[in-house]
Amino acid sequence: MVRINESFLSMKKNYLFIDIAKRLAAYRQTHPDKELIRMGIGDVTRPLAPVVVEAMKKAADEMGRAETFRGYEDSGTGYDFLKNAIAEYYRSFGADVKADEIRINDGAKADCGNITDIFGNGNTVLVTDPAYPVYVDTNLMCGREVTYIDSNEGNGFAAMPDKSIHADIIYLCSPNNPTGSAYTREQLEEWVAYAIENEAVIIYDSAYEAFISDEDIPRSIFCIKGARKCAIEMCSLSKTAGFTGTRCGYTVIPDELIVRASDGSEVCLADLWARRQGSKFNGVSYPVQRAAEAVFTPTGQAQIKENIEYYKENARIIADTLDSLGISYTGGKNSPYIWMKCPKGMGGWEYFDYLLNNIQVVGTPGEGFGRNGAGYFRLTAFSTHEKTAEAMRRLRSIS
Ligand code: PLP
Repeated sequence: MVRINESFLSMKKNYLFIDIAKRLAAYRQTHPDKELIRMGIGDVTRPLAPVVVEAMKKAADEMGRAETFRGYEDSGTGYDFLKNAIAEYYRSFGADVKADEIRINDGAKADCGNITDIFGNGNTVLVTDPAYPVYVDTNLMCGREVTYIDSNEGNGFAAMPDKSIHADIIYLCSPNNPTGSAYTREQLEEWVAYAIENEAVIIYDSAYEAFISDEDIPRSIFCIKGARKCAIEMCSLSKTAGFTGTRCGYTVIPDELIVRASDGSEVCLADLWARRQGSKFNGVSYPVQRAAEAVFTPTGQAQIKENIEYYKENARIIADTLDSLGISYTGGKNSPYIWMKCPKGMGGWEYFDYLLNNIQVVGTPGEGFGRNGAGYFRLTAFSTHEKTAEAMRRLRSIS
């Protein structure tokens, strides 16, 4: 008889956004004439930068000619042209990363989940709560327990290490999804010191680094001394350059990240990951990697910055509205997310229904991101200016 992975049975039935989509589909059926404004899901709306599209077209043409056609990429870890461009990008903000420590993937979500393969089951996995659900779900799928550390109003929704708790694997996300908070250099130094003290590994998700405006907020964990000995970083072009439908990201595992096996021998985590990827992943398509390379050219950087500024303007529109309504929130400055406290003591799902039914504005209930999300609501800045302004006009109308 076949045996299933029963860990799935103890998990919530649906991924958060599937639940939301179902509620919206039901609402649309009963209210076909109402125009919804979606400020919930973290998907971008601006098109790809022209230089990116050109690079992809050129690469597609190359694939159509025998002399420039490419099949499997030899290493499966990404072409040197892209890894070199990313290493150069890291250098531009003072992070110490070598090209051959970078592995190209088809978006950060897969690696965020797949990284569980290289760690054993006895680890204490520490996740800041609330969090991007993938960190928790993928550990639960392996039958692992997760320990939570609170991000809450008291710490500006940016949890800091609790020295009384031991951790082996620590998930950090900065700028944070969903809370929009971003760790300062000093805060990251504290996390790195804690990880080294615990002989732990930090899995650092920097998917929103491109939204950082403050100078004292590092763009990478590798801007912090000691991080090369204790951290893996995952980043993505999804929000940086509108690649949600194009799919490209990268994972950095430094050579210096060495851990001990149970027999006391030293193991380089990059080697384990290479072994895992060698068996389970065949790389990212050539046209997508050429498109990604174009993001890191001076023209590419200028063009994607225009889109990021566009979203940041939306974040300002939202933040100004909440300020004027006296609603407290985090995020919106170094992040495309605004994490607001639900008015009148409402719970997140209650507020979701309230906004949907009264003004047809859709956000994401904080409860979907963890226990500390109760009574909070996530709005995103990824819509158009027009829709963002209209959503905020509607919000004022009921406040
Ligand atoms: N990490 C965080 C924090 C995210 O919010 C997302 C997407 O929303 C991802 C990773 C995954 O992005 P992708 O798989 O599109 O690269």
